[in-house]
Amino acid sequence: MQPTLIGVARQVGGDAAGWASSWRAALFQLLGDIPPAHRPSISSISIDGTSATTLIVDSETGELLAGPFLYNESFPGALPAVESIAPANHTVCSASSTLCKLVSWWNASGGAGSGSAAAVLMHQSDWLLWLLHGRYGVSDYNNALKVGYDPEADAYPSWLMAQPYSRMLPSVMAPGAPIATVRDDVRSQYGLVAWAAAGLSKECVVCTGTTDSIAAFLAARTAGPGRAVTSLGSTLAVKLVSAARVDDARFGVYSHRLDDAWLVGGASNTGGAVLRQLFTDDQLAALSGDIDPAAASPLDYYPLPRKGERFPVSDPDMAPRLQPRPESDAEYLHGILESIARIEAKGYSLLRELGATAVEEVFTAGGGAQNDKWTAIRERVLGVPVRKAEQTEAAYGAALLALKGADRRVGVAS
Ligand code: ADP
Repeated sequence: MQPTLIGVARQVGGDAAGWASSWRAALFQLLGDIPPAHRPSISSISIDGTSATTLIVDSETGELLAGPFLYNESFPGALPAVESIAPANHTVCSASSTLCKLVSWWNASGGAGSGSAAAVLMHQSDWLLWLLHGRYGVSDYNNALKVGYDPEADAYPSWLMAQPYSRMLPSVMAPGAPIATVRDDVRSQYGLVAWAAAGLSKECVVCTGTTDSIAAFLAARTAGPGRAVTSLGSTLAVKLVSAARVDDARFGVYSHRLDDAWLVGGASNTGGAVLRQLFTDDQLAALSGDIDPAAASPLDYYPLPRKGERFPVSDPDMAPRLQPRPESDAEYLHGILESIARIEAKGYSLLRELGATAVEEVFTAGGGAQNDKWTAIRERVLGVPVRKAEQTEAAYGAALLALKGADRRVGVAS
């Protein structure tokens, strides 16, 4: 039996309720697209979703009461109330956190007196999984971090449980834990007669998910303290498996639980967006051919697409530094790629200084991973082996969680 992998489509534009229905339509279209011959052999399903994308659902009717509030939607009006209950610099103390979304909705809807007694909070992947398994209020400790769940204690903290809206919080399981088998009525409810006829197994179990970025990390199939994934997309994001938990709001550094270890992350504003301001992807490939990665570039830049940096230096006023520009474009690109590599190295050094395990090996994801010359430059600058991750799609990481759940499915109720 095999797990299936499901990515979550993102809708651009449109009203909020429309986003939810487009996610649901995408989910069922993906299921319907699975070739009939493979459907009976699917043993488990898991889904990753965008962290802090939040929905409020009526647990009696399944009706969407509010949201989705998207990951980047900000609720500054709720921040003072959240800051007054949470420890200083806690990850919930950001206007876009899930907790700020919950508090904002609670206050706007009149709280307990509003007839919302059955309301439950769901993250994007909780909601999509719920469409398949039908149990309300189940989440995972990666998604629940930004609503205040303490993954170390494996419990909601007392300052959160003391709030009247705590009854809306989902119960929390490890990512990839089996929840229940797929609902019997799912097929008829959503008109998936063809899918039903093709025989998705009644034994198929739905498992808790995780966030997009953790799923993308899991896709690289690296494990153990010291292993890391650098995403070289529009920005540069690092994720390092560490024996110790590290959180530092000054640099936007925080840790997700990863089984018995921690996944420590930080994100710089440098990355491919700067390259795209200067070169096309074809130019990047051609110019990179002329770079000797064994030779250190004498050029020292701080490539940023605009003012402001957060990690590994916290300075909202930092200006981009991309001068002097040599006559040769290949030399210029060499200087930029090497400067970004130094920022990456500084990022891993900062995590070490903050108490994380030292980096030992780096896998690379994102558009920059295809540049072998850059990989060689980064290997020289970082001083550890660097290679391209074979799988980088978050959906692949979700499939690995499903596989984990399939192995633990004994005793799951249907
Ligand atoms: P995102 O998902 O963050 O938009 P991608 O992972 O799709 O980013 O990567 C796109 C980035 O990769 C672009 O910013 C582009 O500049 C960069 N890129 C594309 N080709 C190369 C290359 N050969 N060398 C370095 N960077 C590249």
